Amino acid sequence: MKIGVVTSGGDAPGMNAAIRAVVRYAISSGVDVVGVERGYNGLTTNQIRPLSLRSVGGIIHLGGTVLKSVRCPELRTPEGLEKAGTTLRKNELDGLIVIGGDGSFRGGLALQTAIGIPVIGIPATIDNDVAGTDETIGFDTAVNTALQAIDKIRDTAQSHDRVFVVEVMGRERGFLAVAVGLTAGAGIILIPEIEFTLDSVCRKLTLYDEWGKTTTIIVAAEGIGDTYRVVEHIRTRTRFEVRHTILGHVQRGGSPTARSRLIASLFGTRAIELFLDGAQSKMVGLKGNTIISEDLEYVCRVRKRIDRKMYKLAGELAV
Ligand code: ADP
Repeated sequence: MKIGVVTSGGDAPGMNAAIRAVVRYAISSGVDVVGVERGYNGLTTNQIRPLSLRSVGGIIHLGGTVLKSVRCPELRTPEGLEKAGTTLRKNELDGLIVIGGDGSFRGGLALQTAIGIPVIGIPATIDNDVAGTDETIGFDTAVNTALQAIDKIRDTAQSHDRVFVVEVMGRERGFLAVAVGLTAGAGIILIPEIEFTLDSVCRKLTLYDEWGKTTTIIVAAEGIGDTYRVVEHIRTRTRFEVRHTILGHVQRGGSPTARSRLIASLFGTRAIELFLDGAQSKMVGLKGNTIISEDLEYVCRVRKRIDRKMYKLAGELAV
């Protein structure tokens, strides 16, 4: 048997650890593996290379993806799917492991429907916005990267009694902001899922000030839109000194944490087990401390919920 492995969508630290686990576990189970390069582009243009036990050596600690990743709008068209099918047949692939986010899984489902090839998904994105799993590969690394940056910002905030608005990634969702906000000790967390007004932000800062809290970190998800308007509002409506920091792409890179590598290794292994069991259209995931599998159809249909209790807790601990 032979399978392909592809990394698609935005890169995330730990994707390489997942590729390594897929390749090593597959080969030791008697399954050959080829790497599809540059996301689904590799399928529409036949950029395929064999992967050996040694070819995935020395990558477990590297961020990004050695298979590279680009968006491939062509896969959304019948022609693109047909081209991908030709590549899959030419290379005699019996299955495809897709490492990526929910967009990539939509592509995988489309392939499964059009070509009939079994597809197994491994969730990897720093946004953690994939239903059917508590956590995605790369999320823990991004949380820690943002946390380290905010700890440094806090030194200045505290020395000068300043308010800092720190924008974190997460696309249109607030999972990263909530985890970073709680662990960084942010006084206010702004996410798209929970309504707020800029006046209520100012009122809270004033209240904190009355309580003797002279420094506040505001963690704002990029999904709320232009975070500079928060800074401008505070500057014009209050007497607080306020600064703005956009953490940006530093959150996407870097060496994966132990947790991201662990999840990647467990997900990669389970994906091959599922393939060997004859599973189709499944995603591996984490529920509590257990590795589970979920239907890709469910993953693509359902919107993952924000943990409102955790959000509330962050606020309660910020007093
Ligand atoms: P992510 O996996 O990070 O959510 P994207 O949303 O960019 O990333 O999706 C990655 C790729 O998956 C797209 O470039 C496209 O090739 C493919 N894809 C996404 N949605 C579909 C779809 N509905 N049909 C076919 N392919 C899709």
